This record gives sequence, C-alpha cells and structure tokens, in this order.
Amino acid sequence: LARVHMEVDWSRAALAVKRHGGDVSQRSVELQAMRLGDAALIAVPAEIFVGVGSAIRDVSPFYHTLMITNANGTVGYIPTAEAFEQGRYETDRAAKHYGVYRFRSDVGDALVAGARTVFDKLSHEMRDRHRRRNPVSRRMRDQALDLVVGGCQAHKAPRNLEAGMPAFVARAHGARFWDVDDNEYIDLLMSYGPIVLGHNHSAVDAAVTQQMKKGTIYDLEYPEMLQLSRTLIDLIPCAEMTAFFLGGSGATSGAIAMARSHTGREKIIRCGYHGWHPWAQPGRQGTPNCYRDLTLEVSYNDLDQLEAQLTGHPGEIAGIIIEAVRENGPGDGYFADVRRLADEHGAVFILDEVKTGFRFALGGAQSYFGIEPDLATFGKAMCNGYPGSVVVGRRAVMAGRTDTFLAATFHADAISIVAALATIKALQEQDGIAHQWRLGQRLIDGLTQVFAAAGVGLEVAGFPVLASVVPSTEDWARLRVRFLECLIARGVYMTTHPWFLSLAHTNADIDLVLERAELALKDALR
Ligand code: PMP
Repeated sequence: LARVHMEVDWSRAALAVKRHGGDVSQRSVELQAMRLGDAALIAVPAEIFVGVGSAIRDVSPFYHTLMITNANGTVGYIPTAEAFEQGRYETDRAAKHYGVYRFRSDVGDALVAGARTVFDKLSHEMRDRHRRRNPVSRRMRDQALDLVVGGCQAHKAPRNLEAGMPAFVARAHGARFWDVDDNEYIDLLMSYGPIVLGHNHSAVDAAVTQQMKKGTIYDLEYPEMLQLSRTLIDLIPCAEMTAFFLGGSGATSGAIAMARSHTGREKIIRCGYHGWHPWAQPGRQGTPNCYRDLTLEVSYNDLDQLEAQLTGHPGEIAGIIIEAVRENGPGDGYFADVRRLADEHGAVFILDEVKTGFRFALGGAQSYFGIEPDLATFGKAMCNGYPGSVVVGRRAVMAGRTDTFLAATFHADAISIVAALATIKALQEQDGIAHQWRLGQRLIDGLTQVFAAAGVGLEVAGFPVLASVVPSTEDWARLRVRFLECLIARGVYMTTHPWFLSLAHTNADIDLVLERAELALKDALR
C-alpha cells in the first residue's frame, strides 16, 4: 500500500511538472541539516543504502552525524553506483521515478553532493579553522591538477584539503617541514622513508657539496663505489656482491631480472609492494595483460598459498620476492619456510628491504629477524634523500649476471654514493638505529595511553621503527582518518602509512606529538 501511495505521489508530482512544461526526468528534493552542539542531524526524504549513508557522514564535518531517513516524504530507495552495477531489485524494480523513469546510477552521488552543500551552511568552528590553514596549498593544488598527471610527482596526492591538510611544501629542516602557507609540522613520514638522519643533514650536505665540485657523474666508474660496496657487504648478512640502481623500483626490477637470468625461468611470485614497474603492478591500467601470467601474488605470512603457487607452476618460478615486514611482521619460522620452499623449487628468494633497510638494523630486517635470502633490495633510507638503491646478495646468484642488462645512465650517480657513505657513517657514529627504536617505542606507548584514556578503538600496529595507528574494528575506521587529519592540522604530519623516524627527532618532539595527539583526538570527535 505504501508503495502504491508513493507511486501516486510521484505520478502527481510528475504530472504537475509536465503541466507547467517542466522536465520530469529530474526531481528536486529537500535536505535539512541541523546542528545540536557537537552533533549534526541530516534529514533525507528517501531510504538510503548504507554506502550512501557513510558517504554522507564522510562529507560531514561533524563526527556525530545522525541520519533521519524517509523524512519529509520519501522518493524511495537511493542505492549506491556499485549497486546499480550489481543490478538487484533495489535498482531494478524498487520504487523510484515510479514506473515512469528510473533513477540514474549516480543518484546516490547527487544526494551526497547535496548533503555537502547543506553541511556547508552549518557553522563548524573546527572546519572553518581548518579551511583557513591552506589557501596557498589549495590554489597550487588546482594548478597542479591542470598541469601534472594526477596533480603530483609521485604517489603523494594530498588527502583532504577540506581538513586543512597541506599539498605543497616550502622547506624542510631536521625533523620538521613548513608548507607553502607557512604552517610548521613535525614530520613523521620523512618523505615516505628516505630521510633517516633528518632533512638537509649537515654531514650529507657536506659530502654532496664536495662531490658536486668534483662532478656529479662520469664516463667511467667512481672509486667511492668500491667503498660503499665493501661497507654494504660488511653490514648486510646476505651481501657478497652489490649492483647499484636508482629508486626502490629500479632495485626490485633489477633483482627479478637477475633471478630470471639465474634460473632461466620467467614467473615471479610477489608479496607486498615492490614499486611501479609493470611486473610489480599486474592487472593495473597501463600494464599489458601478459604480466598477469608472469607475476603471481601471495599474502604475507601465508605459506600454504606460497606452496600452492610453487607446486601449481612446477619448474616455472624464477623468484619469490617478499617485503621483509608487513603489518606485525613475520610469524614464527615464516621466512625459514620460505627459504626451504625456494630451495625445494629452485627459485631465487629475494627479500625486499626498501622500507626496512637502515631502519630495523644497519643490516636490515634480515639481520634483525635472522632471514636468509639470496638477494635483497635496499633504497629509501640508504642515501638520506638521494635516489640511489642497491641489490645485494649471494655471489652464486649474482656473479654470472654480466649476461643480464642492468645498465642505465644514472645508475652511476656519484651523489647518491657519497650520500650513502655519509648516511651510514652518521647512523653508525650516533647509534641511529637504537635512537629510532627508542623514540618509536615512546611514541607507541604514549599514543596507546592517549587512546585508552579516551576509550576509543584506536591502537598502534607494527614495530617502533615502522608503525601506524589502526582501528581496532572497522567501526573505528572513520575516527582513525579524522584523528590523523586533525593531528596534521595541529602540526604533526602522520598519515595512515607506517611512520618513519630519524636521528633528528628528539624525546621532546615525541612528547609534543603526544600532547597534540590528545587535542587532535578531541577535535576528531567533534
Ligand atoms: N619496495 C618496497 C618495500 C617499497 O616500500 C617501495 C616504495 N614504497 C618500493 C619497493 C619502490 O621504491 P620506489 O618508490 O623508490 O621506486
């Protein structure tokens, strides 16, 4: 009966519009929003899919946003665009432009856009404060979207400019950076890991400046390359030889090329993130389909999956490349079993230490956890912000690889080599690894206390040198995002990516982070 009423109501409305020569393919509805202290109510004249409801809450500046549905009448079900693709009864038969017209699949998006406009009219002190933080970043972001693919050089797209987050940096020093609106941040991402001593560190600057005066790249080899090779071989357990590249993606791609040459096989099993090159991104837009057959994927800590892939492709797997640490790290005996399976199936075991190198230990996560790979890749923190990277590993796998094409003009970058030598020396002399572990533990303990005191479902996962704030259940996922946004707006640059620390961070910095975290959590709940 209710449905018939709705259909009659819709038909009347459509007729009235038609009589006045209007467009019946569109119908306006009224959204109402009210603020009650720190909570907002939004009244929607429809029954909405949960996905649409959470999208409305995501555009609300209020943490507590209560939805009143079927308020002031109803236009029926509002499904998500995804539901239209799946095509069940709600998108097909349920009440909508009642027998006359169907809803378009973007009807949910239109409702969310409407909700955003309505929320915009409510005052929200913190949102307004956040908006005042980043006018220059916003302007530059608009220009960048017009000029640069994706608006950014790498995978560093700013997340939520509405929440006052910065998009452009003016300068950085030590453990801090300043955005183009002149806001100061304690940096807990350190450029996604390369900066391990601090931004523009004096010893690295001196080594680089000295090298610049002697030339930055030559026709031939450069003696300090030998010194860096020896240093790496001394420090990293699996290292007997080295091969230099640029960027983590360069090193991981070099390592799999070596594994393919060594075994005469083509397929790779991967686990984790290894870079942007086609073999590491099978199935992604812009990557030929053939890579899907060549790159197989397994989950971290899942030996059954790994064994199934190896036995499912007998004699075909050239290499197994695994990120050394994901989530809470390797389970007991995981890497020993990977080693055994690689041996049983004649595959090269490559440990990807691009994130963990010079952070878990000077010899990487392999030295911390006692992992025994054939090859290992290092980049990021090795050069404190310069792009050099390296594959190290067993002579038996690497020595014959003069048959493999691994050369590129800038693999001979002398600046990265001197930067790496200076970086490793500073880490050694100032006990830089222990410093990162100590500060990271202080940060974990402090944040855990802040979350417990507030009684919220947030916690810290990972290791002191590589950890992130996570929700204890899905219900808290939204608070996690808001907390991190509010923390950034209070001058602490921490994101959902695991944090990175440096020699430049101090106990006082961590205490300041914790003070601000307490305030940011209060902000996030408003
Ligand atoms: N491997 C791992 C484990 C990484 O974390 C990354 C970068 N996030 C890469 C490889 C790729 O390195 P890059 O972005 O320097 O090419």
